[in-house]
Amino acid sequence: MTSAYKRVLLKISGEALAPEGGRGIAMDSVVSVANQVHQAMQSGLQLALVLGGGNILRGAQFTSQASHIHEATAHYMGMLATVMNALALQDALESQGCSTRVMTAIKMDGVAEPYIRRRAMRHLEKGRVIILAAGTGSPFVTTDTAAAQRSLELDANILLKATRVEGVYSSDPEKDANALFYPRLSYEEFLSQHLRIMDQGAVTKCMEYDMPIRVFNYRVPGNIEAAVLGKDVGTLISSHS
Ligand code: UDP
Repeated sequence: MTSAYKRVLLKISGEALAPEGGRGIAMDSVVSVANQVHQAMQSGLQLALVLGGGNILRGAQFTSQASHIHEATAHYMGMLATVMNALALQDALESQGCSTRVMTAIKMDGVAEPYIRRRAMRHLEKGRVIILAAGTGSPFVTTDTAAAQRSLELDANILLKATRVEGVYSSDPEKDANALFYPRLSYEEFLSQHLRIMDQGAVTKCMEYDMPIRVFNYRVPGNIEAAVLGKDVGTLISSHS
Protein backbone atom coordinates (compact mmCIF):
# COMPACT_ATOMS: atom_id res chain seq x y z
CA MET A 1 0.00 0.00 0.00
CA THR A 2 1.30 3.46 -0.88
CA SER A 3 1.01 6.36 1.53
CA ALA A 4 -1.39 9.15 0.62
CA TYR A 5 1.28 11.58 1.81
CA LYS A 6 4.92 12.14 1.00
CA ARG A 7 5.83 13.44 4.45
CA VAL A 8 3.94 13.11 7.71
CA LEU A 9 4.40 14.60 11.17
CA LEU A 10 3.04 12.12 13.70
CA LYS A 11 2.54 13.29 17.26
CA ILE A 12 2.21 10.45 19.76
CA SER A 13 1.10 11.12 23.35
CA GLY A 14 3.55 9.90 25.95
CA GLU A 15 0.87 7.72 27.50
CA ALA A 16 1.09 5.44 24.45
CA LEU A 17 4.36 4.21 25.98
CA ALA A 18 2.92 3.67 29.48
CA PRO A 19 1.45 0.47 30.91
CA GLU A 20 -2.34 0.21 30.43
CA GLY A 21 -3.91 2.72 32.83
CA GLY A 22 -0.54 3.50 34.44
CA ARG A 23 2.40 5.87 34.18
CA GLY A 24 6.04 5.57 33.15
CA ILE A 25 7.39 3.42 30.35
CA ALA A 26 6.31 -0.18 29.69
CA MET A 27 8.43 -1.96 27.13
CA ASP A 28 5.48 -3.91 25.68
CA SER A 29 3.65 -0.61 25.03
CA VAL A 30 6.78 0.83 23.40
CA VAL A 31 7.11 -2.26 21.19
CA SER A 32 3.45 -2.07 20.22
CA VAL A 33 3.86 1.57 19.09
CA ALA A 34 7.10 0.65 17.29
CA ASN A 35 5.29 -2.20 15.47
CA GLN A 36 2.64 0.20 14.25
CA VAL A 37 5.18 2.79 13.15
CA HIS A 38 7.27 0.13 11.40
CA GLN A 39 4.16 -1.13 9.61
CA ALA A 40 3.27 2.42 8.53
CA MET A 41 6.79 2.92 7.15
CA GLN A 42 6.23 0.10 4.64
CA SER A 43 4.03 2.53 2.69
CA GLY A 44 7.14 4.48 1.64
CA LEU A 45 6.45 7.72 3.48
CA GLN A 46 8.85 10.08 5.20
CA LEU A 47 8.06 10.18 8.89
CA ALA A 48 8.87 12.68 11.62
CA LEU A 49 7.65 11.75 15.12
CA VAL A 50 7.04 14.16 17.97
CA LEU A 51 6.70 12.33 21.28
CA GLY A 52 4.92 13.65 24.33
CA GLY A 53 6.06 13.12 27.91
CA GLY A 54 2.78 13.07 29.81
CA ASN A 55 3.34 9.44 30.89
CA ILE A 56 6.19 10.73 33.05
CA LEU A 57 5.56 14.39 33.83
CA ARG A 58 3.61 17.44 32.67
CA GLY A 59 4.83 20.86 33.75
CA ALA A 60 1.31 22.02 34.57
CA GLN A 61 1.25 19.55 37.48
CA PHE A 62 3.43 21.98 39.41
CA THR A 63 1.24 25.06 39.35
CA SER A 64 0.23 25.16 43.01
CA GLN A 65 1.68 27.75 45.39
CA ALA A 66 2.77 24.89 47.65
CA SER A 67 5.08 23.57 44.96
CA HIS A 68 8.68 24.53 45.52
CA ILE A 69 9.48 23.88 41.89
CA HIS A 70 9.01 26.86 39.58
CA GLU A 71 6.52 26.03 36.84
CA ALA A 72 9.11 26.81 34.16
CA THR A 73 11.47 24.27 35.75
CA ALA A 74 8.68 21.71 35.71
CA HIS A 75 8.13 22.32 31.99
CA TYR A 76 11.82 21.70 31.35
CA MET A 77 11.46 18.46 33.33
CA GLY A 78 8.53 17.57 31.04
CA MET A 79 10.70 18.20 27.98
CA LEU A 80 13.38 15.90 29.40
CA ALA A 81 10.70 13.24 29.90
CA THR A 82 10.05 13.30 26.15
CA VAL A 83 13.74 12.52 25.59
CA MET A 84 13.50 9.37 27.72
CA ASN A 85 10.48 8.30 25.67
CA ALA A 86 12.34 9.04 22.44
CA LEU A 87 15.31 6.88 23.44
CA ALA A 88 13.04 3.97 24.34
CA LEU A 89 11.12 4.20 21.07
CA GLN A 90 14.31 4.59 19.06
CA ASP A 91 15.71 1.28 20.31
CA ALA A 92 12.42 -0.51 19.77
CA LEU A 93 12.23 0.80 16.19
CA GLU A 94 15.86 -0.03 15.44
CA SER A 95 15.36 -3.58 16.75
CA GLN A 96 12.71 -3.95 14.04
CA GLY A 97 15.08 -2.76 11.34
CA CYS A 98 13.89 0.85 11.12
CA SER A 99 16.64 3.41 10.63
CA THR A 100 16.11 6.28 13.10
CA ARG A 101 17.60 9.46 14.51
CA VAL A 102 16.63 11.18 17.74
CA MET A 103 16.93 14.96 17.51
CA THR A 104 16.45 17.16 20.55
CA ALA A 105 15.35 20.79 20.80
CA ILE A 106 17.53 21.12 23.92
CA LYS A 107 21.15 20.37 23.13
CA MET A 108 22.26 17.10 24.73
CA ASP A 109 25.60 16.02 23.35
CA GLY A 110 26.23 12.36 23.99
CA VAL A 111 22.53 11.49 23.98
CA ALA A 112 21.17 12.65 20.65
CA GLU A 113 21.68 15.05 17.75
CA PRO A 114 20.55 18.64 18.13
CA TYR A 115 17.50 19.52 16.06
CA ILE A 116 18.64 21.34 12.94
CA ARG A 117 15.94 21.76 10.31
CA ARG A 118 18.06 21.10 7.23
CA ARG A 119 19.63 18.07 8.84
CA ALA A 120 16.20 16.75 9.78
CA MET A 121 15.09 17.15 6.14
CA ARG A 122 18.13 15.17 4.99
CA HIS A 123 17.34 12.30 7.37
CA LEU A 124 13.77 12.24 6.09
CA GLU A 125 14.93 12.14 2.46
CA LYS A 126 17.13 9.17 3.33
CA GLY A 127 14.12 7.31 4.73
CA ARG A 128 15.10 7.58 8.40
CA VAL A 129 12.39 8.00 11.00
CA ILE A 130 13.26 11.11 12.96
CA ILE A 131 12.12 11.25 16.57
CA LEU A 132 11.90 14.87 17.67
CA ALA A 133 12.28 15.20 21.41
CA ALA A 134 12.27 18.00 24.01
CA GLY A 135 9.30 19.68 22.35
CA THR A 136 9.99 23.22 21.20
CA GLY A 137 12.79 23.64 23.75
CA SER A 138 10.75 26.37 25.49
CA PRO A 139 8.51 26.08 28.56
CA PHE A 140 4.77 26.83 28.98
CA VAL A 141 3.66 25.01 25.84
CA THR A 142 3.09 21.34 25.09
CA THR A 143 4.30 18.91 22.48
CA ASP A 144 1.15 19.67 20.40
CA THR A 145 2.68 23.08 19.75
CA ALA A 146 6.01 21.44 18.90
CA ALA A 147 4.19 19.12 16.48
CA ALA A 148 2.44 22.04 14.75
CA GLN A 149 5.68 24.00 14.53
CA ARG A 150 7.70 21.07 13.13
CA SER A 151 4.98 20.03 10.69
CA LEU A 152 5.19 23.49 9.14
CA GLU A 153 8.95 23.85 9.04
CA LEU A 154 9.48 20.33 7.70
CA ASP A 155 6.85 20.79 4.96
CA ALA A 156 4.75 17.86 6.14
CA ASN A 157 1.53 17.18 4.23
CA ILE A 158 -0.44 16.51 7.40
CA LEU A 159 -0.14 16.54 11.18
CA LEU A 160 -1.40 13.27 12.64
CA LYS A 161 -2.15 13.29 16.35
CA ALA A 162 -2.31 9.82 17.92
CA THR A 163 -4.19 9.89 21.18
CA ARG A 164 -6.17 7.54 23.43
CA VAL A 165 -9.67 8.44 22.24
CA GLU A 166 -11.27 7.99 18.82
CA GLY A 167 -10.90 11.61 17.78
CA VAL A 168 -12.47 14.96 18.64
CA TYR A 169 -15.66 15.02 20.75
CA SER A 170 -17.88 17.86 21.98
CA SER A 171 -16.65 17.07 25.53
CA ASP A 172 -14.34 14.54 27.17
CA PRO A 173 -15.78 11.11 26.16
CA GLU A 174 -14.07 9.51 29.16
CA LYS A 175 -16.15 11.70 31.50
CA ASP A 176 -19.32 12.46 29.51
CA ALA A 177 -21.33 9.58 28.06
CA ASN A 178 -23.25 12.05 25.85
CA ALA A 179 -20.15 13.46 24.21
CA LEU A 180 -20.72 13.89 20.48
CA PHE A 181 -18.07 12.58 18.07
CA TYR A 182 -17.04 14.86 15.19
CA PRO A 183 -15.68 13.08 12.10
CA ARG A 184 -14.78 16.46 10.52
CA LEU A 185 -14.31 19.97 11.83
CA SER A 186 -13.05 23.25 10.45
CA TYR A 187 -10.28 24.99 12.38
CA GLU A 188 -12.76 27.73 13.31
CA GLU A 189 -15.26 25.19 14.68
CA PHE A 190 -12.56 23.57 16.77
CA LEU A 191 -11.35 26.88 18.16
CA SER A 192 -14.75 28.45 18.78
CA GLN A 193 -15.95 25.45 20.81
CA HIS A 194 -12.82 25.59 22.96
CA LEU A 195 -12.26 21.87 22.48
CA ARG A 196 -9.45 20.64 24.65
CA ILE A 197 -8.05 17.55 22.97
CA MET A 198 -5.39 19.66 21.33
CA ASP A 199 -3.75 22.96 22.24
CA GLN A 200 -5.61 25.94 20.82
CA GLY A 201 -2.25 27.53 19.98
CA ALA A 202 -1.23 24.49 17.91
CA VAL A 203 -4.52 24.49 16.00
CA THR A 204 -4.28 28.24 15.41
CA LYS A 205 -0.81 27.80 13.93
CA CYS A 206 -2.06 25.03 11.62
CA MET A 207 -5.03 27.19 10.59
CA GLU A 208 -2.74 30.08 9.63
CA TYR A 209 -0.84 27.83 7.22
CA ASP A 210 -3.66 25.47 6.25
CA MET A 211 -1.98 22.38 7.71
CA PRO A 212 -4.59 19.61 8.03
CA ILE A 213 -4.73 17.73 11.33
CA ARG A 214 -6.07 14.22 11.89
CA VAL A 215 -6.76 13.13 15.48
CA PHE A 216 -7.14 9.38 15.96
CA ASN A 217 -6.80 6.54 18.47
CA TYR A 218 -3.41 4.81 18.62
CA ARG A 219 -4.93 2.03 20.72
CA VAL A 220 -6.76 0.57 17.73
CA PRO A 221 -4.26 -1.78 16.05
CA GLY A 222 -3.48 -0.66 12.50
CA ASN A 223 -4.79 2.87 13.03
CA ILE A 224 -1.40 4.57 12.57
CA GLU A 225 -0.96 2.80 9.23
CA ALA A 226 -4.54 3.66 8.23
CA ALA A 227 -3.97 7.34 9.08
CA VAL A 228 -0.77 7.59 7.02
CA LEU A 229 -2.46 5.83 4.13
CA GLY A 230 -5.01 8.66 4.19
CA LYS A 231 -7.94 6.54 5.41
CA ASP A 232 -10.80 8.24 7.17
CA VAL A 233 -9.98 7.33 10.79
CA GLY A 234 -10.74 9.66 13.69
CA THR A 235 -11.39 13.35 13.09
CA LEU A 236 -10.04 15.54 10.31
CA ILE A 237 -9.58 19.22 11.23
CA SER A 238 -9.03 21.37 8.15
CA SER A 239 -10.29 24.48 6.40
CA HIS A 240 -13.48 22.60 5.34
CA SER A 241 -16.01 21.28 7.89
N1 UDP B 1 6.83 20.87 27.32
C1 UDP B 1 7.28 22.18 27.27
N2 UDP B 1 7.57 22.73 26.04
C2 UDP B 1 7.41 22.05 24.87
C3 UDP B 1 6.91 20.73 24.94
C4 UDP B 1 6.63 20.16 26.17
O1 UDP B 1 7.43 22.84 28.28
O2 UDP B 1 7.69 22.61 23.80
C5 UDP B 1 6.59 20.25 28.64
C6 UDP B 1 5.21 20.57 29.19
O3 UDP B 1 5.30 20.74 30.57
C7 UDP B 1 4.43 19.31 28.84
C8 UDP B 1 5.47 18.23 29.05
O4 UDP B 1 6.67 18.84 28.53
O5 UDP B 1 3.32 19.12 29.67
C9 UDP B 1 5.20 16.92 28.37
O6 UDP B 1 4.63 17.11 27.10
P1 UDP B 1 3.06 16.90 26.79
O7 UDP B 1 2.23 17.30 27.95
O8 UDP B 1 2.79 17.59 25.50
O9 UDP B 1 2.99 15.32 26.59
P2 UDP B 1 1.75 14.40 26.12
O10 UDP B 1 0.53 14.85 26.88
O11 UDP B 1 1.57 14.59 24.68
O12 UDP B 1 2.22 13.03 26.47
